[in-house]
Amino acid sequence: MRVLVISDLHANYTALETVLKDAGQVDETWCLGDLVGYGPDPNAVVEQVREMTHLTCIMGNHDMAIIGKMAFESFNGDARRSLLWTEKVLTADNMDFMRSLPQSTKVRGEVTLAHGSPRDPLWEYVLNTLTARLNFDHFNTPFCFIGHSHIQSMFLLNEEKDRVTLESVKVNRPITLTPRMLVNPGSAGQPRDRDPRSAYAIYDTETRQWEARRVQYNVKEVQQRLREAGLPEKHAVRLGEGW
Ligand code: ZN
Repeated sequence: MRVLVISDLHANYTALETVLKDAGQVDETWCLGDLVGYGPDPNAVVEQVREMTHLTCIMGNHDMAIIGKMAFESFNGDARRSLLWTEKVLTADNMDFMRSLPQSTKVRGEVTLAHGSPRDPLWEYVLNTLTARLNFDHFNTPFCFIGHSHIQSMFLLNEEKDRVTLESVKVNRPITLTPRMLVNPGSAGQPRDRDPRSAYAIYDTETRQWEARRVQYNVKEVQQRLREAGLPEKHAVRLGEGW
């Protein structure tokens, strides 16, 4: 089974559309949260996600805030301005869909999905081997797919040596996942590794092959919509530079 793994769409419809086209035919989509926040297209993105067949989708911290279960004060000024705007424009139907999302879940008994980390699904960033090591005690499947950091990464636990290593991610070069790993497909809607191209991954459940991918989308179009909506200029600039 060919699975599209996406995360941190952040209301960037142009990026999502480009990723879906680039990914081609898939059997399932696993979405690791943060559908909204920052970007200018919350309704279009949520509607696109709702239309996906064979979808497993969990909630991110921005999604949690938009349904009223997390204080906007926990976000920095510009992220908060974006949430206030999103709250105003998001339709009731889309809001209901967001409310239905779980915080973390397990798929096929093999992969745990969590937005931030399995230990703290809404807030924790897994950016180094120490944090990764602590998190291996918080899921019992061979693999855990995470988002939130907006950076394509993979951490491997060697259970015999009790050591975690950060494996290098090579775009377009599929690698076979070996138990146990914490893997991040990167962000489709707001990449933060200085590469503005959308990030996502294709996972094959039979061969356990993971292919990290990048695709260029029309950033200018999204920047223009951000400016038209009066959203923070910072969010337009960062899309162009990938941070
Ligand atoms: Zn995010």
